[in-house]
Amino acid sequence: MKKKMTNTWIACVIVLVALAATFISRANACGDCKVNAAAFTFSAEERLPQTIIQKIVDDFINRPLANGKERKKVLILGYDGFREDGLNNIYDIENSAILSIMDSGGLYHSFAGGLEDSSQATSTSPGWSSILTGGWHDYHGVEDNGIPKKDVPTLFQTAVQKGYSTTFVSSWKEHFETVYTQDMIRAELLNEPSQYIFATNDEDSKNQAIEAIKQDFDIVMAIAECTDNAGHSSGFGNDNPIYQEACQEADHWGKEILNAVKERETYPKEEWLVIITTDHGGIDLHHGGQSDEERNTWFAVNQPVTPNSEWLNYHK
Ligand SMILES: [Zn+2]
Repeated sequence: MKKKMTNTWIACVIVLVALAATFISRANACGDCKVNAAAFTFSAEERLPQTIIQKIVDDFINRPLANGKERKKVLILGYDGFREDGLNNIYDIENSAILSIMDSGGLYHSFAGGLEDSSQATSTSPGWSSILTGGWHDYHGVEDNGIPKKDVPTLFQTAVQKGYSTTFVSSWKEHFETVYTQDMIRAELLNEPSQYIFATNDEDSKNQAIEAIKQDFDIVMAIAECTDNAGHSSGFGNDNPIYQEACQEADHWGKEILNAVKERETYPKEEWLVIITTDHGGIDLHHGGQSDEERNTWFAVNQPVTPNSEWLNYHK
């Protein structure tokens, strides 16, 4: 009887120690976070519209080359449905694309879903359309998923006009079968140096983006879907360990693509703009609405940008 009691006590102690270890490791993970509210360059009051990405790319292309550089290049990494508080999961310095670039530039609050009271959904097609065209749905026409973009230029088309080659890679079919179909047809008809690659999954997207970088494409954009997939299947937000892991997975995926940039033989002579962002947040198992969890987004960039009052309201 005494031995049985002892065993029970030992079992209890083991369970308590395990629980404490879990709690401490979680607390540590949070305490070690490199990306939290304090990591942002400006406060949340200065939340920029996601349309500003198009302007940052355009301004970069239009300004003179930096001293000693011979060519401008752009990498845009999209993490689909990566909520702003998902950034709390990013602390793996070795494998984080976000941490690799934000020290030389910054991390900024941004928002999806159009201006206040907008009818633009916080969905994938409207989000990336706003990022790529610099306008809200009244400009690009993509109020929600399932709608083709109006004939307004994306940052790819503007770059092609200025002599750059472009690659857009994603494993989400709607980009290629609905939103950018007209752009793809035009690029083919005019024989433009513009690739639109429908990848089979994130692994394929990553490999295709790395290949485009090796092939010397100037503007490369790739989107990871693991975060959005995790949110829809088991819940957006940090209450869900599967979502937390997906945030890390997306950022490791981005780091591998970023490594391909740095491994280029001509890298020292190139001026690279690198932007990492998301199209929308999410709440419970969905997104599309106008809650803060769905509207609040973020972007990291490897060069400092200085928001002014014009930027806070920027849209075409
Ligand atoms: Zn999305």
